[in-house]
Amino acid sequence: MHHRFGYQRVLEDIDLCVQAGQAVALVGPSGCGKSTLLNLAAGLLSPWEGRIDSSFGQAAMMFQQPRLLPWKRTLDNIALGLKARRTPIAERQTRARQLAHRMGLDDDALDKFPAALSGGMQSRAALARAFAVSPDLLLLDEAFAALDIGLKSELYGLLARERAAAGSAVLMITHDLMEALRLADRILVMSGSPGRIVAQHRVATPVGERDDAWVFARTAE
Ligand code: ATP
Ligand code: MG
Repeated sequence: MHHRFGYQRVLEDIDLCVQAGQAVALVGPSGCGKSTLLNLAAGLLSPWEGRIDSSFGQAAMMFQQPRLLPWKRTLDNIALGLKARRTPIAERQTRARQLAHRMGLDDDALDKFPAALSGGMQSRAALARAFAVSPDLLLLDEAFAALDIGLKSELYGLLARERAAAGSAVLMITHDLMEALRLADRILVMSGSPGRIVAQHRVATPVGERDDAWVFARTAE
């Protein structure tokens, strides 16, 4: 697959397959086309040449900014994807509330508008919103980059747990190699302009019960 914006070639010779339930991390320098690749995977862009085959039915996306709708209460933000799927209102509110509680948001926070939440709470809400639709593909564009290390670590654990429960595949961009080692089964290194995939690492430890101690024991091969 190739992609360009006008005359600028942005991605060259990209051949990437994300298996169901698998987590793939994309790392590489700024401007090498990672976000473009994610947007292509999400169907937000169409490739200039080649194609994207997706057997994933439900995708969810998260960005560095939580991007909650400011005019909707936190609970309604989390339930938004379920509304689009026409889930009955009582059911979507119950589901959104349960998910939010698992993400560490209490009813008081759910009743507030996003602007009244801390950045960390907004990130929890964004993670809950992504999982509300039980995505079979979750796309993360530096979703944890702006968070402090304690919160990051907690959200990694929550992500791993929800992902295991929902069977979600993950395609994630990160500049943090520890994050990639912690969350991904496979790490793809991108480089150049136009960007290509120049190296791949398979992370040895299987998906599942990962804690911080494992990060240092695990080797990428
Ligand atoms: P970063 O790590 O800084 O987020 P990135 O690897 O995600 O970088 P992209 O955002 O994919 O990089 O951008 C790759 C190239 O494509 C850049 O040169 C950028 O200017 C260009 N580009 C991205 N989106 C568009 C667009 N919508 N129109 C034109 N050019 C674009
Ligand atoms: Mg980017």
